[in-house]
Amino acid sequence: MRCANATRRRPSRRREFRIWKVDCNVGKPGGDDRIDFMRVLVVEDEKKTASFIRKALQAESFAVDVSHDGAEALALATQAPFDAIVLDIMLPGLDGLSMLRRLREQNNNTPVLLLSARGQVNEKVEGLNAGADDYLAKPFALAELIARVRSLGRRGGDSKPLVLRVADLSLDTTTRQAQRGGTTFELTTREYRLLEFLMRSAGRICGRMAILEKVWDYDFDPGTNLVDVYIKRLREKIDEGFEPKLLHTVRGVGYTMKEQP
Ligand code: CA
Repeated sequence: MRCANATRRRPSRRREFRIWKVDCNVGKPGGDDRIDFMRVLVVEDEKKTASFIRKALQAESFAVDVSHDGAEALALATQAPFDAIVLDIMLPGLDGLSMLRRLREQNNNTPVLLLSARGQVNEKVEGLNAGADDYLAKPFALAELIARVRSLGRRGGDSKPLVLRVADLSLDTTTRQAQRGGTTFELTTREYRLLEFLMRSAGRICGRMAILEKVWDYDFDPGTNLVDVYIKRLREKIDEGFEPKLLHTVRGVGYTMKEQP
């Protein structure tokens, strides 16, 4: 996965980003940190259906990214970590099954829920063989879709490490506490999400726009210095007084987390 690619502006997608749900509690002072936060990619070319699914998932406080195109969705899924992908089979260009096969060829194991208009048994088998984790035939009840996406997120969560490590820095994703050199750091919700994103992307360059999109969800003015402000705060906690430094600036691009400068 290459975070750096996500720094490019994608004009055709800005509208989707702009209407991303700002998950209602995360980041608010006194907000509930226990939110079952999931980032979901919805791939569906029928815009009404895509919008319907997006709104339903956003109502569950999930961050939702929508793509109407299989090739674009594949690029998105390889650029950034998602907790689940809702993937329609019938897509123009690169169809859902081909997109799924390519994703698995890249050893990307993001849980995938396939949607099919036909609901035929052979299509279901073909989908599961291609690496789908679950299958839902249209028309479906939104409540069932949400339940299945949640279940996929839990399954995906099982395979993710609960404690992330970069050198002697560790981040417990259940208690949301960071530790280094015997010191435990309390993190605000936003600091935690930023650190988690950087640690999950360790060794890769994360552009400012990619960080804004993945950690803040909003369509920010690219001129904002929010990322730099939060990076500074994180540095004061996890790098100040420690060696080696782990949070590095990549001039003109963004940041990377790694042991070697
Ligand atoms: Ca479709």
